Amino acid sequence: MVRKLAAGNWKMNGTGASLPEVEALKAALSEPSVDVLICPPATMLSRLSDALDGSAIVTGGQDCHAAGSGAHTGDISADMLRDAGATHVILGHSERRTDHGESDADVRAKAKSAIAAGLRAVICVGETLGEREAANTLSIIGGQLAGSVPDLVTADRLVIAYEPVWAIGTGKVPTTDQIGEVHDFIRAELEKRFGSGVGRSVPILYGGSVKGSNAAKIFAVSNVNGALVGGASLKAADFLPIVEALQAS
Ligand code: PEP
Repeated sequence: MVRKLAAGNWKMNGTGASLPEVEALKAALSEPSVDVLICPPATMLSRLSDALDGSAIVTGGQDCHAAGSGAHTGDISADMLRDAGATHVILGHSERRTDHGESDADVRAKAKSAIAAGLRAVICVGETLGEREAANTLSIIGGQLAGSVPDLVTADRLVIAYEPVWAIGTGKVPTTDQIGEVHDFIRAELEKRFGSGVGRSVPILYGGSVKGSNAAKIFAVSNVNGALVGGASLKAADFLPIVEALQAS
């Protein structure tokens, strides 16, 4: 049984002025039938965790360092995220892979550290447009999974997010057949590597231009267990219809 998850990635957006959006989510989602996660910038994590205390909505970081502590100016450890109230951390987002040159090995090391700290790692994979056009999508995704996901995982410590790089923030969405092909492939890879118990229980999210208007169609695709949402997670009025579509799926 896979527990569904609607996750919001605020990226480098959000200040104290965004707190009313979170209060609105809290008021509207008193007993959600799916998991709901918001990943704000690190500066907002404690404030969101406090604002959401007592609600079913949890918070997460957008990255962590692989080391527990030390001379890494500007970085944040998994323990620090936990201390700020996080239960999850997004790792290997394509913007981190591109902007910061993060490799699969880097993502794997971060995931190990996050899991050891008691966080659930939301590990992102996804092909570029060039890789899709060259018919390399599944081999790219297979390689990213093999390289980024650590060996020792239990289902409650891992989420996979399939985010085609060309669909992030562009308004372009793959066809439901394209999404289904990749999600079925990811499920099969997880089962092959971790056995059917763990492999069938890890949520696989789709991410890339999800909106209230396309969410129901995406959630009807096989092995889509939720969404990782960027732009449409910033406003409660945009994010709530996505959560509602997931609850109805
Ligand atoms: C993301 O950043 O993870 C994302 C999916 O962004 P958007 O929903 O804006 O495409």
